[in-house]
Amino acid sequence: ANIHQGMLCVFQDECLGQGSFTRVFKGTKVDIREGEEHRTQVLLKVLDANHKDYWEAFFEASSMMSQISHKHLLLVYGVSVHGAKNIMVQELVKYGALDLYLKRKGSVSVSCKLDIAKQLALALNFLDEKNIVHGNICAKNVLLAREGDPSQETSPFIKLSDPGIKVSLLDRNVILDRIPWVGPELLQDPPILSLDSDKWSFGATLWEIFNNGETPLKDWDLEMKRRFYGTYQQLEPSQWTELADMITQCMDYQPASRPSCRVVIRQLNNLITSDYEVLHASEAPER
Ligand code: ATP
Ligand code: MG
Repeated sequence: ANIHQGMLCVFQDECLGQGSFTRVFKGTKVDIREGEEHRTQVLLKVLDANHKDYWEAFFEASSMMSQISHKHLLLVYGVSVHGAKNIMVQELVKYGALDLYLKRKGSVSVSCKLDIAKQLALALNFLDEKNIVHGNICAKNVLLAREGDPSQETSPFIKLSDPGIKVSLLDRNVILDRIPWVGPELLQDPPILSLDSDKWSFGATLWEIFNNGETPLKDWDLEMKRRFYGTYQQLEPSQWTELADMITQCMDYQPASRPSCRVVIRQLNNLITSDYEVLHASEAPER
């Protein structure tokens, strides 16, 4: 696919996976600079043909991501909206989605998890300062670029992925299915999407991180999920009080009562430097 002048993308047929409206492939980006060819491995995210009417929203997500730059935000090179296919060209992140990684690994150290949580909070803070709502924060949209290895003293490194189709355009059932990540205010009539909604999603993502990538409310049907919010329920609290508190503060049914990014970062810093890790290290594999 021809993406834009001077950049050419070559498909490889290996399909890496699929999302709600997309399928992803590995590819190679070829740039010609000063007569020389530069090749980069990329990820090509293709909008499903049966969701083509979403192309404008898909384009919007790509352009939002390609216009901002932060070390913990996924790099988006560009998008092609011509021809039959809509393709987003993005950085290929080595270890893929965080939920799958945590499930695969089984036990990742507490300090690694805290590190990941803090990096995500930094990305969120950046978006917050720019007044940009992400709208689809969850562990599967957190990508792992580098593993943490305590014995080598290397820390993990994450990149927050693009949000995909704007949540406000989605059908009610798709939004219901995103419980418990989607802020409850998105199920109101009219739905309200704000920066505070990302805080709720951040809380749900923290829950996933500290439950080793487990899917919250897995196998619940839409009616059960709707009732979960309808009766103001909370996810099963973590045994670690400080962490459980932070998750509950983020997942406050009152959007305005959720903590600011600064407060979240400060609390995470406290947990990182406290004896918390030592105290709870033995509990880490379970929860
Ligand atoms: P959503 O539509 O809610 O974003 P999703 O994240 O599962 O759902 P996609 O964003 O299309 O859908 O991604 C599909 C899968 O491909 C992801 O779950 C992840 O495992 C993998 N993936 C996505 N982006 C990248 C990337 N840049 N590098 C490596 N793997 C990726
Ligand atoms: Mg995604």
